[in-house]
Amino acid sequence: MSKVKEYINSVKDDIQRRDPNQTEFQEAAFAVLDSLEPVLEANPQYVSSNLLARLVEPERVIQFRVPWESDDGKFNVNRGFRVQFNSAIGPYKGGLRLHPTVNLSIVKFLGFEQILKNSLTGLPIGGAKGGSDFDPKGKSDAEVMRFCQSFMTELQRHIGPDLDIPAGDIGVGGREIGYLFGAYKRLRGYQNGVLTGKGLTFGGSLARTEATGFGLIYYTDALIKAQDDVLAGKTIKVSGAGNVAIYAIQKAHELGAKVVTVSDSNGYIYDPKGIDYTIVRRIKEVERGRIKEYADQVPSAEYHDGSVWDLDINYDVALPCATQNEINEEQAELIAKDGAKYICEGANMPSNAAAIVVYKKNDILYGPGKAANAGGVAVSALEMSQNSERLSWTFEKVDNYLKEIMAGIFAQSETAVKKYNLDKDYQAGANIAGFEKVAEAMLAQGLI
Ligand code: GLU
Repeated sequence: MSKVKEYINSVKDDIQRRDPNQTEFQEAAFAVLDSLEPVLEANPQYVSSNLLARLVEPERVIQFRVPWESDDGKFNVNRGFRVQFNSAIGPYKGGLRLHPTVNLSIVKFLGFEQILKNSLTGLPIGGAKGGSDFDPKGKSDAEVMRFCQSFMTELQRHIGPDLDIPAGDIGVGGREIGYLFGAYKRLRGYQNGVLTGKGLTFGGSLARTEATGFGLIYYTDALIKAQDDVLAGKTIKVSGAGNVAIYAIQKAHELGAKVVTVSDSNGYIYDPKGIDYTIVRRIKEVERGRIKEYADQVPSAEYHDGSVWDLDINYDVALPCATQNEINEEQAELIAKDGAKYICEGANMPSNAAAIVVYKKNDILYGPGKAANAGGVAVSALEMSQNSERLSWTFEKVDNYLKEIMAGIFAQSETAVKKYNLDKDYQAGANIAGFEKVAEAMLAQGLI
């Protein structure tokens, strides 16, 4: 075994020994570590400075109690987290997730991915993530507000516009960011740049809501173009029906492709005529209903229980936009059997490790989440810029930056693929391109 491989294995062993039960974090970290082998072969200073061991250990982990009162007068307790993973290239930046599955392993995997994702944007932002196992589903606005206020009572002492800037993720949209911002302001005074994804009336950026979905399509378009192929005319399966899915559908249709599915945690809609994103948006964001209702309103649409990846149709592009590990090995086999040629991830780590092996075996070109869904955090960083200069840019200006950033992310990944002869492995390309910048910054700053 090569020295570099031995070193990578020793870092993996330490992760396994320290946190044997953090399976999601292990999956994310191991995939990155494995793909860095050629970079370490070419750069012995990364091994001699034990850089990987430093990279996989968060700078700081904060865990706290979040007590809140429900409408029936009951006192409840949830667990809150903020993992400040890496600040080598900028202040900590990353979303907050509210979902019953949230635990330290999930927050660490998301924070770790965020380091490389944020690096790929080319903007000066470090990696972080946070959240709670609070379930916003079925809660009243007042309950969500009380939870957010309690959550911020603790979080406020750890964040700031030049220190750590949280934003949304699953379960945290405009409503929650508004409540969190209001709570922060009462405790610490008005600081516009402390959160991103804010409402447009108090320092939010135009195009932030659309950014992850639009960015996903810009990235997918760049990947497809690099194969001398075109997005226009392609049939697409989307999973999820949240913010990422909705705006991915809008942009895919604007560029001449056709999205035929959307889903939520219960089931999925198949509409061969193409999904109308405005109806999905109304059902999910205004009425906060279930995706099943789409079929009651659109005669050409069918609703089925289960996973959208089990639906047997021919299509070209898969865009998983729901959550982590939604695609396993068998479903990846189905994606291959249905003839899909491209898969780009709107969610974070929706494909498990076995699924990715299947993509590679079947020559399905794979755009990993840390590259393909970086549009959200990229526009968050542009929101920070606007807050600093006390200006609001036009939608067009932000959208043009976003296009440029997503094309740049694909280009950097492709450059790494070529440099290290990685045979269209855009996952390894993204890992390497994201890593190189963080690694250089860490080395330059001494033993950090
Ligand atoms: N939660 C998003 C992500 O996974 C956005 C984070 C942000 O805007 O800070 O990248």
